Formats: sequence, C-alpha cells, structure tokens
Amino acid sequence: MPNLKDLPGVEQAQVIDRDQHPISRQDISPNALKVLYRLTSAGYSSFLVGGGVRDLLLDNKPKDFDVATDATPEEIKQLFRNARIIGRRFRIVHVRYGREIIEVTTFRAAPDKQLEVSDKSSRKQLQNIDSAQTREGMIVRDNVYGRIDEDAARRDFTINALYYTTDGFKLLDFCGAMADIEDRSIRMIGDATERYREDPVRMLRALRFSAKLGFDIAPETASPIEDLADLLTSISPARLFDEVVKLFSSGHAESTFTLLIESRVREFILGPTFEALECCEPQVFRLVELAMKNTDLRIADDKSVTPYFLFAALLWPPLRLTMKQAGVESMNSSSQFIDVANQTISNQLSLTAIPKRISYASREIWELQNRLTHRAHRTIDATLNHPRFRAAYDFLLLREAAGESLGESGEWWTVYQFGDTTQRDELLEQLPNTRRKRRRKRRSSASNNSD
Ligand code: ATP
Ligand code: MG
Repeated sequence: MPNLKDLPGVEQAQVIDRDQHPISRQDISPNALKVLYRLTSAGYSSFLVGGGVRDLLLDNKPKDFDVATDATPEEIKQLFRNARIIGRRFRIVHVRYGREIIEVTTFRAAPDKQLEVSDKSSRKQLQNIDSAQTREGMIVRDNVYGRIDEDAARRDFTINALYYTTDGFKLLDFCGAMADIEDRSIRMIGDATERYREDPVRMLRALRFSAKLGFDIAPETASPIEDLADLLTSISPARLFDEVVKLFSSGHAESTFTLLIESRVREFILGPTFEALECCEPQVFRLVELAMKNTDLRIADDKSVTPYFLFAALLWPPLRLTMKQAGVESMNSSSQFIDVANQTISNQLSLTAIPKRISYASREIWELQNRLTHRAHRTIDATLNHPRFRAAYDFLLLREAAGESLGESGEWWTVYQFGDTTQRDELLEQLPNTRRKRRRKRRSSASNNSD
C-alpha cells in the first residue's frame, strides 16, 4: 500500500487532518470508497476530488464522486471489470455500479509536449498526440499525466481542487481552497484569462457553481468573462448542449437564469431566448421564470427533470415571437405551426445541439397546447393517452400560472384526470358536440359534391 508521504508532489500541499475537517466516511458513496480502496490496495495512490469533496465540506449532497489517481486509464481498467475508458480530448475511466458511475481520472500535468493545431486539424492528426492547443490557446487534447500537485493546478477553481485520502482521512489543499470555501468565493486557479482561453466552458462552470453554491465569483475570475464570452463559439454544440442542461438542472435554475441575464455568455448559449425575452409579453417572461422555479422544486424533491421540458420552456419566448411575426395563432399540428416550431428549434441548433428525440418531444409539448385548450370530444382520449400528455399538462399549468387566460383549461384537465366517472362525464357533457356537427358537415359536403 503506498504511503502518502512518498507520493511525489504531495509536499506542496497543506494537509488538513481528520479532526480539522467535517468529512466523514459515512457521507461518501460506498462505491466511491470501493474504488479508492481497490486502487490503493493495488499499490496506486487515489483520492476523492472535485465536486464531491467540495459539496461534503459545504454540507450539500454531492451529485457524483470523482476519483483522481496515479494509475493510468489502462491500469485502472485492469482493476475493475465494470470499467470503461471514455473520452478522447480528455481520457477518463467510468467505473459503473448499477446507476452510479464513479469517474476516475489520472493525474494530469501542464501540457509539455504541446502542439499547435489549426482549428481544422483532423481527428487523425490528433490521435497519437498527448496534448494539443489551438493558436488561440484552447486545449483540444489533454492527456499528459503528471504529479498530484500538477493535477491540482490543471483543475478549474480552487474549491474543486481539494483531495481527500482514505490514508488517515486527510484533506490536501494545494491552492488555498479551504480559505476560498470559507470566503464563499469561486476563484480560478492561475491566470483566469489564460484558463478561459484553454477551455471557454469554464466561464459557464463559474456561473453554474456561483448559482448552485450561492458563492460570489472572485473579481479577477469574473472580470475577463464579459470580454471572452464569444470564445464559446469555438465549443462544439454537443458539449454546449450538455453544459446548458447542467446549468438548468443543478437545482438552482432560477438563480442561474438571473445570472445569465446579466452576462454576455447568454448570447452564445441561448441567444434567441434572451433576445426574445427583451421584447416579449410579461406572461412569456414569467413562464420561463416559473419553469425554472418548478425545475428547482422538482430537483429538491428528487424528481427527474427532462431536457425536453426544459427546452420547451427555454425556447418558449422565441417560439411566441416567431409565431407573432409569422401571423400563426394556434399551436397545433398545422403545417404553419410546425414550420414556426422547427424554425425556432433550428435557430437554437446553431448554438447548442439538441438531440432529435429531445427537440421532437419539446415540439410535441407545444403542439398539444391547442388540444388542451380547445377541447373536442374526439380528441380527449387520444390527448390523455399521448406520451407527452403529462408534460404538456404541466406546461399548460405554468402558462396559466404565468398569467395567460386559457379558459381554466388546467383545472378542466386536473378534474378530468383525477376525477371519478361522474365528474368526467359531466365535463364531457359540457363540451360542444363536435362529433354530431362534423357528421352533419360531412353529409352536407357529400351532397354538395353530388350536385
Ligand atoms: P458537479 O457538482 O457538477 O459534479 P464538479 O466540480 O464535480 O461539479 P465535474 O464536471 O464532475 O464537476 O468535474 C469534476 C472535477 O474535474 C471538477 O471539480 C474539476 O476539478 C475538474 N474539472 C471538470 N471540468 C473542468 C474543466 N473544464 N477545466 C478544469 N477542470 C475541470
Ligand atoms: Mg462531479
């Protein structure tokens, strides 16, 4: 078993003994502990690091547990049957236990074998290279392994760079992280401008942690963001999609949204939304706010949050604006509405990817709105059995709560769903008898045709 003292680089750390910090083994996922113990008994050093340690120190429930080690991805894989190496730009190992994934990364050093690549470098060119940066300083590959102190310096914010060891249950602090936790401050390790250039997504991470933890971003970490926001255009839409989903599912979507209103980064992740919000009706703005609140409540209740509901709400302002501009009034399956909905989605796709199945489901939520507000006998059952009914109904409730007058449709569907047979029949009785009307219409049009 390796001795902590013998680990190269560890002498750079301030060591916080077990009686000086509140983290107890009982708060750590048994699977994360299993990974730590298996690595150490195989002779490697291993530490809990990142959000797990940070959240435990703050008495928050960690979202996941990350492990850092001096074992290489191949060595890690050999120790765990349930391990998979993933990532190319940044190789990591996922060790899976049922639904829980422990992310294991090998200590990284500052890239020494740097290669400047043009943005158009092919994947092939990067295949056998350990690290590479574009001329603008963006790291496109980061797989040079190093010592623990170097690993700490490669992490983003000080509060994310604390290492917890099962060897004496100590914490290692390489960059004044404990002081920043105490000050409730998000501070970039190293020069913030340079670190944002290496990876512009760190700007979004700064906002996310600020909203999630209620910490301020240190002035020298916050100030470059406004000038550098456009660097986000160099991030792949797929990665930006993941980051946007994380931003709004951290349990603090409402405060994230408020922070975004104040920051230029909004243009590069949800440009059409924030542009439309500037000129939209108050109910539209309010719906987005309420959707954020609602998302936070669901997460607090351990309920799931689906990205398609999130995008249905986030793209609501540009959808309503485009409908207005195109003179389209109802949200139904008409080709005019479908065109407007597709246009709204495709405008967003130039910023963030949205997997087809997600954008399709968001569109279904919108399309169902008309069926929910303009109820007809023949569509009630189909609407109720629609796979997106529940989401569309929740959306309808939000619209009403946001101040739209929709003929108390929310209440109608609440009673219809949860009421008894008599209540349902009464509701159906009140509906205009569209079935009879249609039949009459068809008959009369048939007789017209025969004339
Ligand atoms: P969360 O609560 O969202 O899981 P986290 O801090 O654990 O927060 P992860 O994305 O799980 O975030 O990453 C784990 C750790 O890896 C971070 O705490 C940080 O130390 C490091 N890290 C992640 N992304 C970056 C990045 N873009 N640049 C530098 N370090 C990063
Ligand atoms: Mg994490």
